[in-house]
Amino acid sequence: MVKKMEQLYEGKAKKVFATDDPNYVIVSYKDDATAFDGTKRGTIMGKGAVNNRMSNFLMGKLSEAGVPTHFVEELSDRETVVKKVRIVPLEVIIRNVSAGSFAKRYGVEEGIVFDEPTFEFSYKNDDLHDPLLNTSHALALKLATKEEIETIRSMALKINDILKAFFADCGVRLIDFKLEFGRLPDGTIVLADEISPDTCRFWDAKTNEKLDKDRFRRDLGNVEEAYQEMMRRVFGK
Ligand code: UDP
Repeated sequence: MVKKMEQLYEGKAKKVFATDDPNYVIVSYKDDATAFDGTKRGTIMGKGAVNNRMSNFLMGKLSEAGVPTHFVEELSDRETVVKKVRIVPLEVIIRNVSAGSFAKRYGVEEGIVFDEPTFEFSYKNDDLHDPLLNTSHALALKLATKEEIETIRSMALKINDILKAFFADCGVRLIDFKLEFGRLPDGTIVLADEISPDTCRFWDAKTNEKLDKDRFRRDLGNVEEAYQEMMRRVFGK
């Protein structure tokens, strides 16, 4: 087992620590929640453990299905060893149903089911508020190569197929989600970051009740309960 060393970085929802192996880092999930570019802040009790355990479980499923990920080993409720990657500075978003910024940007209601999933990405840059980008912009800014963008697109769509089917079995509709990818030292692209109620929209299949971070963003109440309910859906099958 690797040894935890100094903290390298503290983000909004996670801390990252060095280890005695240069190829691995340890991520530690916090209960802190932020929304709207960090302007709304709060705590969601137990969120760190839910996100850590759910994300690891889903990455395991994806890995079995042939999707390479950064996951290495779960250490505890909140801590996981992952491969050290250079993050591709793109926030990749797949949507199956209109919601959130898509509904707002294009002036449509939430809940429209798309014939095909949509693929988009933003520039991961807090100072610029994560602006939306197209492929030619990403290439002009040298954020990724053409081949990397193609790899990321096909991996993201495959991940959507796998997760959509998995959550349907849990009685949950996968509305949309955000992914991040990283480069291993040899340049291989792997899925990184997390897959959790912080980064996905989940609606109950029967009632369309929201079971994700929108409960926090929109002050809908029962925030902790929604995270715990998603744990039961995923692990209780
Ligand atoms: N998302 C995320 N981090 C971000 C922005 C979005 O994890 O910084 C997720 C969000 O939870 C949702 C999906 O990506 O599942 C699409 O989000 P959207 O673009 O609709 O933006 P939002 O309405 O969350 O601002």
